[in-house]
Amino acid sequence: MSKAINFEEARVKVEELVNELNQYSYEYYVLDAPTISDQEYDQRYRTLLEIEEEYPELVKGDSPTQRVGDGLIDGFQKVEHSSQMLSLDNAFNLEELKEFDQRVKSLADHDFNYLAEMKIDGLAIVLRYEDGLLVQAATRGDGRVGENVTENIRAIAAIPLRLRENVTAEIRGEIYLPKKSFVQLNEERESEGKDTFANPRNAAAGTLRNLNPKITASRNLNGFFYTLVNPENYGVQSQEEAIEKISSWGLRTNSDYRKFKQIEEVWDFIEEANEKRMDLAYDIDGVVIKINQLAVQEEIGMTVKSPRWAIAYKFKAEEAITKILEIEWTVGRTGVVTPTAIMNPVFVAGSTVQRASLHNVDLIKERDIRIGDTVVIHKAGDIIPEVLRVVLDERPVDSETYEIPSHCPACGSELTHLEDEVALRCINPACPVQAQERMIHFASRNAMNIDGLGEQRIRQLFAADLLDSVVDLYEIESADLIELERMGEKSSKNLVRAITDSKENSLERLVFGLGIRHVGSNTARLLAAEFKTAEGLMEATYEDVLAIDGIGEIIADSVVSFFKNEDAQELMTELAAHGLNMKYLDTSGPVDEAIASVFTDKTIVLTGRLEHFSRNELKAQLEDYGAKVTGSVSGNTDLLIAGESAGSKLTQAEKLEVEVWNEAQLMEVLAGE
Ligand code: NAD
Repeated sequence: MSKAINFEEARVKVEELVNELNQYSYEYYVLDAPTISDQEYDQRYRTLLEIEEEYPELVKGDSPTQRVGDGLIDGFQKVEHSSQMLSLDNAFNLEELKEFDQRVKSLADHDFNYLAEMKIDGLAIVLRYEDGLLVQAATRGDGRVGENVTENIRAIAAIPLRLRENVTAEIRGEIYLPKKSFVQLNEERESEGKDTFANPRNAAAGTLRNLNPKITASRNLNGFFYTLVNPENYGVQSQEEAIEKISSWGLRTNSDYRKFKQIEEVWDFIEEANEKRMDLAYDIDGVVIKINQLAVQEEIGMTVKSPRWAIAYKFKAEEAITKILEIEWTVGRTGVVTPTAIMNPVFVAGSTVQRASLHNVDLIKERDIRIGDTVVIHKAGDIIPEVLRVVLDERPVDSETYEIPSHCPACGSELTHLEDEVALRCINPACPVQAQERMIHFASRNAMNIDGLGEQRIRQLFAADLLDSVVDLYEIESADLIELERMGEKSSKNLVRAITDSKENSLERLVFGLGIRHVGSNTARLLAAEFKTAEGLMEATYEDVLAIDGIGEIIADSVVSFFKNEDAQELMTELAAHGLNMKYLDTSGPVDEAIASVFTDKTIVLTGRLEHFSRNELKAQLEDYGAKVTGSVSGNTDLLIAGESAGSKLTQAEKLEVEVWNEAQLMEVLAGE
């Protein structure tokens, strides 16, 4: 069989997908604020999996296919799980369920049946009871290590602090926010001008992982429990018996499960569940099918990521009908102009929707979407509204094909398609909106990581004519900022300090921040590590770049063309003239074990002004030595590194008797003295 894509294309695609999916996972698991739907995520994940199956040599260590979850946040103690908390393989149709059925049948030596359970759309949790008492609760985290959320779990009325038997056991399940409480919570937040949660799952995760148990107590979280760890210790032989056992101990279990012999019967159960899901008080996103007999589960075993004896069938999202009123076009950082449908407000999958991204011109053409059309929409993954199709029977007689704009909505210059791209682009380098979007990227976490310079602030600075290009950023003074709304003397100073600090970033951050096409943060690091200086990188030939392990033709071409451009050269010269570091600071180089041993597993906080380090680089360096660097001093802090004019963090550290070093002490240790 010929391969669907060639190696080079696959390499670029894998890099892109891994970066993208890791970013989405970060937003989903750590920020509890996804920016794409689960369905879209699952689709991209599938594509990655398929390419990796074709080209196993391209599987990266940080590929999401090699990991479970990824949700560790600062602020909670870490808990190592007694055994891995795995994820589940997914199926999206009957065909895939049948394949699963075939697979397990070929692996099992004994007869078995299936137990189908509701797939609760919440947050996985493990509870540990000792002699009947709740002693610990942890999130799944990365599967191996989770966060200790015991205090918050204790605040959930539905979770017993003492079981009905004095057993020692670990029980896993799902914490969720009932739909009604979700709607109420969002209404409250909206009226207080706070961000709303995208869906009940994120709200549950955000609630469980806030640092104040009082907030958790106020939000009506609930849970269902379904897994008993080491069931053999309790005389349990099947998943069904495990659920019964858990229930007999007084924990909540979901009674909507059923046993089946045939996979076709499971399918009927899935269809029933899909019909009644909207009437349930809690969200389910599918049905989990498990082999019921624990002995057969043992026989079949697991992969690094998921048990082979279970599969999660995921529902398709709910649909609704509405009308397209208008199509709005917005310009992104790379000049891509994307269309959004403005629609009559309609209620779908838990909220009212009036906007839906149409993604690109091709989608409008393919689906022949027109103003005035009646359309079917859904919320992919119950979150992101999408136009699925036009209801042609409802199309007005005088309807006309939608005319794709020919000029940029921001600067009026002519739009074009680059090469074979589906995206429509504004290629005017002076387009003001693009400059704003580029700046947002430049300041972002994986790029220059400038604290306090988020999207809103950047828009405000543009509106006030304080910014035009990234060079202007390094000319801003706190006196310029102080006049702005929501900007006091302190925050203006902090922002200028953060901007100044960013000058010392290692080269890869700048390279990524430039927004060169196809250059993600990993590639930027490879480039910086290879060429060491901006000069070296700018002088590199196509062959030099291509020779780097991990970089292919498309990226090499993009990098070389970028730096050939005079504007880019001028930009680099100006940035260097403003004092930006143009060197690769090898923070991930060989680690000195003796120094590392001082920092490994220590929780460290940095405060005050440091003379010899930028915050970002020191943080990276300490992390390379195995430390965890957090933002605030608490009982868990092991060490505070206090530079000049340290304030409240120093006071707090002294109060909590946390060890404090000044910069000189730090430098001695780092020098191995
Ligand atoms: P999953 O959603 O595919 O399902 C596995 C989980 O289901 C288990 O870990 C368990 O917590 C839960 N579960 C609920 N009811 C259960 C039951 N009765 N028995 C057993 N388990 C049950 O896997 P995941 O690893 O939790 O999450 C991965 C999914 O998260 C992706 O498939 C994607 O849909 C979503 N995701 C979305 C984004 C995004 O940006 N939208 C990013 C990352 C992940």
